[in-house]
Formats: sequence, structure tokens, C-alpha cells
Amino acid sequence: MRAEISNARVHPMAQIIDGKIYADRLREQVAEEVARLKAEHGLQPGLAVVLVGEDPASSVYVRSKGKATVEVGMEGFQHRLSAEAPQEELLALIARLNADGGVHGILVQLPLPAHIDSSAVLAAIDPDKDVDGFHIVNAGRLAVGLPGLVPCTPLGCLLMLKDQLGDLSGLHAVVVGRSNIVGKPMAQLLLGESCTVTIAHSRTRDLPALCRTADILIAAVGRPEMIRGDWIKPGATVIDVGINRTGDGLVGDVDFDAVREVAGAITPVPGGVGPMTTACLLENTLEAALARRARVPLE
Ligand code: NDP
Repeated sequence: MRAEISNARVHPMAQIIDGKIYADRLREQVAEEVARLKAEHGLQPGLAVVLVGEDPASSVYVRSKGKATVEVGMEGFQHRLSAEAPQEELLALIARLNADGGVHGILVQLPLPAHIDSSAVLAAIDPDKDVDGFHIVNAGRLAVGLPGLVPCTPLGCLLMLKDQLGDLSGLHAVVVGRSNIVGKPMAQLLLGESCTVTIAHSRTRDLPALCRTADILIAAVGRPEMIRGDWIKPGATVIDVGINRTGDGLVGDVDFDAVREVAGAITPVPGGVGPMTTACLLENTLEAALARRARVPLE
């Protein structure tokens, strides 16, 4: 019975894109460059992470980011404010971090409590220290093709795609999701690689048919296993950004078991995009430190 199934399969099972391997490799490269900066220039990149409130998932993220920072030889600064802290207190902290020469990257963990205006907080971060890449200056730089800090999750996806596929030019990329932190910057990055890019969202008509035209399919929706096996063009590369906590544990936006029968390559959840996101945060902090050294060489 098993032999019959495998003989009937048109394509072999998709290759699994192991995000942990990519992330380890990137972290090693960052650590080497940090060691060189310290040895040759006495410069230690520093990343400040700010957490407001006690959200358990956010606390876990902040702790693991802090650990990862120290592991690559950077300096990690953690700032915790109470859930009731007024917006002014957070803005004053950001102003101090902006002015601190030992801090090259600033990350404010989202979501923020409801009484705080997230966009005002993100706008207060010095764009050259905005290692999350969420500041509108960095969004603008990305849109017009200028160098800047790029959001970590789409950056990680792009690095894996380029390593996997080489030249992306001319490929049709469908990005499902149009958020400012994943979908839109992902689409911009793929356009920058000369893909033909389609952005889909909740109002898109006949999403399955659209997805079937994708050489590269990025799922950034937040709906467990929404993307089915028969939505996939045979041989396509599928990147699953989704993180959904269900009764059965953590699942992505892609029906992994069905899609891997059709796709050429696919990222798993967990162990795909997630690990690369943290590694790209370190990469961005390094980039921010290098860029500042180029601007202020005698610091
Ligand atoms: P948002 O909720 O901000 O955006 C979701 C997008 O999906 C929206 O553009 C929405 O469309 C679209 N959408 C919703 N339902 C449908 C549907 N039925 N058909 C087509 N499109 C739909 O989410 P994020 O972009 O912040 O995150 C997306 C997922 O990625 C989440 O699961 C999140 O947890 C995960 N994530 C993972 C990260 C990682 O490190 N791996 C990092 C960041 C996010 P519309 O705009 O029309 O409402």
C-alpha cells in the first residue's frame, strides 16, 4: 500500500528548510564580526530591549533575545517597566537610549498595554537604532530601495529563500498577509530581488487559485493550517511565517503534512522562520553598530 502511494506521487516530498541551521550559521557569522570589532576597534555592539508589563509570552521573547545577544558577544540591556507605566516614562527611557553611545539597537517588545500609543513609541526610536525596522523612516527607505534596517522576520525569510533558490528574479511570489511587520516589508524585499509580487489579504478573491500560481508562497496570516495542499504549485517554495497556538500545540498557517507532498521546499513550524527572526535581530544590531561607526568613526 505504501509503495503504491509513493509510486503515484508526482513529486518527491518537499525539502524541509531548517531555520535552526540557518540561524546558527548567521549567529556564528555575527559573533565572528563582533569579536573582530572588539579586537580591532574596541567596539562592542549593544542591544537594549524594553518590556512594558508582565505578558508571559513577551517575557519569554525578551529573555531569549537577551540570552542570544550575550551569546554572540554583544552587550545586552534589559529595561522593564510596570504595566501601568505612563507613556511619558517610556518615551523618556527611549530618549535616554537614543542618546546612549553604548546602545546601538533599541527594541520595544510589542504588544504594548492599551493606554500606550504604539505608533508614537515606535516613532520616538532613533531610526538608525531601530533594529526591528518598524520606524516609518526605515519603511520608507525599504520602499524606495535605500539602505536601512529591515524588519527581522521578512529579512530572515529572504535570506533563506536566496540561499535555497539563488537568483529570485522573475519568479512569482505571492505574499498572503499585508501587515506592516511581515507582509508589506516581505513584498518590498521580494520586489527588490526582481520577483513579480502579488500581495493577498482577507479580501482577495479566489485565494487558492492565486496561490497555485506562486513559485514562492509566503504565508503570514495567523490562521492555523489555512493553506492547503491543493493550493500549491508543484515544486513551489513555501515559507510559513504563522505561529498559532492550538490544542494540538504550535502550528503554522500552512497544512504542513499536505503541502509537503506537493511543494519543492517548505519551512516547518516550529523550527523555520522563528529561529531566523532572532538571528536577524542580532544581524541588524551589528549592522546598526557598523553604520554608526562609519558615521562617527572616532567615537
Ligand atoms: P496580522 O494579523 O497583522 O496580519 C494578518 C494578515 O493576514 C492581514 O493582512 C489579513 O488581511 C490577512 N488575513 C487574515 N485572514 C485572511 C484570510 N482568510 N485570507 C487571506 N488573508 C487573510 O498578522 P502578522 O502579520 O503580525 O502575523 C502573521 C502571522 O505571523 C501570525 O501568525 C504571527 O504570529 C506570525 N508571526 C511570526 C513571526 C515569527 O517570528 N515567526 C513574527 C511575526 C509574526 P487584512 O489586512 O485584509 O485584514
